[in-house]
Amino acid sequence: MRILIVGGVAGGASAATRLRRLNEHAEIVIFERGPYISFANCGLPYHMGGEIKERESLLLTTPEEMKKRYNIHVRVNTEVVSIDREKRMVKVRESHGKEWTEKYDKLILSPGARPLLPAIPNLKDNPRIFFLRTLPELDKIMEFIKKEKPKKVLVVGGGYIGLEAAENLKKRGLEVTLVEMLPQVMFTLDPEMAAIVQNHLILNGVELILNDGVKEFENTQNGLKTTLTSGKVVEHHFAVFAAGVLPEVSLAKEAGLEIGSTGAIRVNESMQTSDPHIYAVGDAVEVRGLISGKKVWLPLAGPAVKQARVAADSICGIKRAYQGSQGTALVKVFDICAGTTGLNEKQLEKEGMAYKSVIVHPSSHASYYPESKTVSIKLLFNSENGKILGAQVVGEKGADKRLDVIATAIRAGMTVWDLANLELGYAPPFGNAKDPVNIAGFVASNVLEGTVNPISVQELDRNREDYHLLDVRSAEDFEIGHIPGALNIPLPQLRSRLKEIPKDKKIAVYCKVGMTSYLATRILMQNGFKKVYNLSGGWTTWSFLHKWKEAKTP
Ligand code: FAD
Repeated sequence: MRILIVGGVAGGASAATRLRRLNEHAEIVIFERGPYISFANCGLPYHMGGEIKERESLLLTTPEEMKKRYNIHVRVNTEVVSIDREKRMVKVRESHGKEWTEKYDKLILSPGARPLLPAIPNLKDNPRIFFLRTLPELDKIMEFIKKEKPKKVLVVGGGYIGLEAAENLKKRGLEVTLVEMLPQVMFTLDPEMAAIVQNHLILNGVELILNDGVKEFENTQNGLKTTLTSGKVVEHHFAVFAAGVLPEVSLAKEAGLEIGSTGAIRVNESMQTSDPHIYAVGDAVEVRGLISGKKVWLPLAGPAVKQARVAADSICGIKRAYQGSQGTALVKVFDICAGTTGLNEKQLEKEGMAYKSVIVHPSSHASYYPESKTVSIKLLFNSENGKILGAQVVGEKGADKRLDVIATAIRAGMTVWDLANLELGYAPPFGNAKDPVNIAGFVASNVLEGTVNPISVQELDRNREDYHLLDVRSAEDFEIGHIPGALNIPLPQLRSRLKEIPKDKKIAVYCKVGMTSYLATRILMQNGFKKVYNLSGGWTTWSFLHKWKEAKTP
């Protein structure tokens, strides 16, 4: 059997090595357009920042190693330019122009994604604008920094790569401006969770411009003048453009393979395209969304390598189905980590799914043990059966492990009651007997059982006039900062001051994170107050969402 693979990085290299482990006799050839295979594209930003010191650490294997270890032929600097499906043949072209054809029994496409290039004047082929997608591109940035010694950089795009670029360029000592056309960074997070990330960026000295896009680039004598859609003009020495990616489907499209509704290649659960001899994996394909059941396009490394394994297994006669993607993703932003899994509020609303959500801010580990930090969790769940639909986790320590626990729970089809019951590892340096994941489960099950009614900060903002706002923190905390219009009755005084609270109005109660206010709502509900709501995430969430807008870049 002769198997050709297009693309030699995450999906392509994974498929090739799995194929070899299953079939010692197949002829396997990888074609890679660029000069390297199997490079760590996810590690590129960290070499830029100096965290990964050696450039060579980013090269996970070489064509020579692939030949020696796996007997896999690799042709770098060689692009597959067309597919003749009738003859089961591809045309390939070396970078210096030589062309020839190759026959296949099976073909695997793993061509990845390409950067989104909006029609912005002077964006393309601009020597001061870089795209952080490949090792040669990283080399160009490093060379530019070394030669030009720039002081100021503009990062365009507040997605994962933009955030990583901003952090790492700041660590290199540059002044960094990050511009994002949406009203928040990381659109996979809901706004109140993104607000934590935004605060953290500002705290770390990144100038953040939201709700504004790039209208035009103009090269000046020593730099780059950028006009934003708002009319604001910013000046930098160079820019990293990370405004998103699109699936690389040109080869598949020209070969007449079916393209799905998301614009990526359509595959079945064996990763087979509309041509049974051609498989496709990774950033170029759409798959079933685990929660919605609909087709989704989620360009992430984890799904790419798992899909590659399914494709290789299917080619070798092992019946294996790719079960779908849930979009579990993590990003490091200076000292915090922010992650998502499953669907966020915007997506759930779009899907018309009945859901509820809670936000909790527990400690990463026992608060009496040094260095305990807040882990903020937003949990979204089916409002009828409690099935977990999504989660967002942001925090300094232990946020990644909580995200992974909830991601696993989603895979297993668990409910909020299951989360409450999970028995997780506990010792003071690592967690709490009531782990943050358990706490999210407790609060969510209280909501479903009617023990507490949550209200989100956004809902309160939308209908502020309808609510009498009660702050049950101490008078000192209230003095330091509170939501305008709130009445302060510290919890220990609540039972004796019930008369001050109107019975005919909706009461929204808040404290620092939602725990003391939960106790207060229980007191109120059992004293004849009918419409009592606990502000989800409390003062912490409210102030994150409201205050970052006013914060000034240091
Ligand atoms: P790729 O790994 O991109 O490989 C595609 C390869 O195909 C490319 O090398 C390309 O040159 C080659 N190719 C394309 N067309 C042809 C052709 N016609 N002929 C020959 N070769 C061709 N994901 C995460 O989950 N976590 C992260 O932290 C993360 N960080 C990232 C950071 C950066 C800077 C970047 C760029 C990506 C990051 N990703 C991350 C995304 C992740 O790298 C991709 O999801 C993953 O690499 C997709 O694998 P793939 O095989 O589909 O495509």
